[in-house]
Amino acid sequence: MFLGNQYVIGIDIGATWTRIALARVDGSIASRHVFRTPREGDRYTIANTIISSIRREFSNYLDNVKAIGIGTIGPLDLTQGMVINSPNVAIRTFEVAKPILEEFKKPVVMANDCVTAVWGEKYFGLGRGYSNIVYITISTGIGGGIIVDDTLLLGKMGNAHEIGHIVVDTSGKMECGCGGKGHWEAYASGANIPRFAYRLIDEWNLTQNERESPVYRAYLNRELTSELIYTYAKKGDSLALRIINEVNKYNIAGFENVINSYDPEIITVGGSVALRNPELVVEPIVRGIENSKGVVTARPRIDVTPLGDDIVLIGALALALYPPPNLVKKLRYLESISIDL
Ligand SMILES: [Zn+2]
Repeated sequence: MFLGNQYVIGIDIGATWTRIALARVDGSIASRHVFRTPREGDRYTIANTIISSIRREFSNYLDNVKAIGIGTIGPLDLTQGMVINSPNVAIRTFEVAKPILEEFKKPVVMANDCVTAVWGEKYFGLGRGYSNIVYITISTGIGGGIIVDDTLLLGKMGNAHEIGHIVVDTSGKMECGCGGKGHWEAYASGANIPRFAYRLIDEWNLTQNERESPVYRAYLNRELTSELIYTYAKKGDSLALRIINEVNKYNIAGFENVINSYDPEIITVGGSVALRNPELVVEPIVRGIENSKGVVTARPRIDVTPLGDDIVLIGALALALYPPPNLVKKLRYLESISIDL
């Protein structure tokens, strides 16, 4: 859409880090800048920090920047270009798109981070050549971005397919951060795996061998972390592997739900837990889906994203380069200046 123009800017607003990239129209990154997402301030602080960072880092290029894409933590009010009551950041409600648009007078196209990521996968990752693509992140939380028949799914406010909150356990053993019971994320996200592990070890009769595990010692000392469990699983620790085997059952159930709901040709997987432990997270999902009797459609390809930790940033560039028409229609804040998308 912006062929013939020279640059776009992509912004990834995460709970901890904000990343900004200046890229050419082929998507190649010319320059990037990373800073901690502000934890104090008012509803304009985050946008103002982004604006001053762009002015400082990319000032020589601004005349040739044709659009700005943003992938941000949610939940969103897309129509207003805002983040509303986000549980994962210190400043819970903040302006995103409007201040940036008013400052630079460029089109600003924003979406939630996983939705942004799947758009990046479509144009710059494994999604090229596919019309039905799902991206799933297994990180601190679990989330997804979904493209069906080349259309990016959004929902009324831009919060469609919060797949981390799919119910995978009707017994509701684990309570989710959202307050729901039995949600996928409550069992298998980086933040919740330790809570689930405490619960499992409380319930299990351990073998002598398992009682000698460093994971059991960490359990007794209330020092369990996801990282510790995966580290010892890689070393073949039987208790760590037993925990992960349980976690994987919920991942497989989550993937079954997603495949049956959206009929994708390909699912790519990212997020820190999956990217750091593909053989313990992604491979068991691939095998589980291959052997599942609960998938009612042709099985999709399932693979780790090649875009790694940059997927939201690259997705933001893709939003700027190839704005999804149904998304643009939702961004009512764009009406405040006359711009040509
Ligand atoms: Zn939930």
